[in-house]
Amino acid sequence: MAKKNSRTGWEIPATEAVRASADTRVADLDTNVTPGFEGDKELGERLLEERGADLSALQEKLFANGRSSEEHRSVLLVLQGMDTAGKGGMVRHVIGHVDPQGVDHASFGVPTEEEKRHHYLWRIRKALPRKGQIGVFDRSHYEDVLVVRVHDLVPPAEWEPRYDEINQFEKDLVESGTSIVKVAMFVSLDEQKARLAERLERPDKYWKYNPGDVTERGYWPQYQQAYQAMLDRTSTEYAPWHVVPCDRKWYSRLAVTELLIDALERLDLGWPPADFDIETEKRRLAES
Ligand code: AMP
Ligand code: MG
Repeated sequence: MAKKNSRTGWEIPATEAVRASADTRVADLDTNVTPGFEGDKELGERLLEERGADLSALQEKLFANGRSSEEHRSVLLVLQGMDTAGKGGMVRHVIGHVDPQGVDHASFGVPTEEEKRHHYLWRIRKALPRKGQIGVFDRSHYEDVLVVRVHDLVPPAEWEPRYDEINQFEKDLVESGTSIVKVAMFVSLDEQKARLAERLERPDKYWKYNPGDVTERGYWPQYQQAYQAMLDRTSTEYAPWHVVPCDRKWYSRLAVTELLIDALERLDLGWPPADFDIETEKRRLAES
């Protein structure tokens, strides 16, 4: 049995436990499991707070470096998943741990008239994180090979080349200093039904309910195929996909916290040095 990491509480690091592989089969995924983590909800929620604080400290370093360094460093979290997978909650409960001024958030819905007149990556490029920021995409350029593919919004000859184009786009991004953390969030058809039913029972959730979501449930197998193709064709060394089971929200939030911590730690950032003479400033301050 793998030995539990006393700091993170994980038996297998999240980066390994949920990383997409050539064997990942979307249609066979169990979405009610907690890969790499054997603790229960209570432990998971406690760790989320602890690790959220670690995430916040790392984010502050990224932000500080963004202010003082010429080099571009940023982290882009891509959240992609069917309705009710918990993308909004991920933003609130994971990204909610960090200083909002360090977050560039963008969500992508049905393209506006203006967006339709441009290349599908146009609105994506405009929303990329600035230097020192954590960018969060609630849906992303992947909609252009998911919903677009499922509903034939453009012919196959048009969406087919997008996989390679997206890989190149992400490669360029990574080479220019943006670490990309891609998270595919999966709930089961039953869990989605329960979450949609809850939205119909609670006045505070009506705003999240969209009758179109029920229509989309009829396309579940097609979506599974499209997600499979996305994982198969766009999980790269420089920007791998993570496949996160989301029936248990506490698990998915903890997993994504760990993925972000890993991405930030790999940047290996220090605190920016003072760009003034410390002794002189101490003296000036004392004399002031
Ligand atoms: P929500 O995230 O619940 O606000 O829903 C946004 C909707 O916009 C979803 O149904 C997406 O499938 C849809 N959407 C996002 N991007 C695109 C796109 N490029 N083309 C068509 N529909 C899209
Ligand atoms: Mg929705």
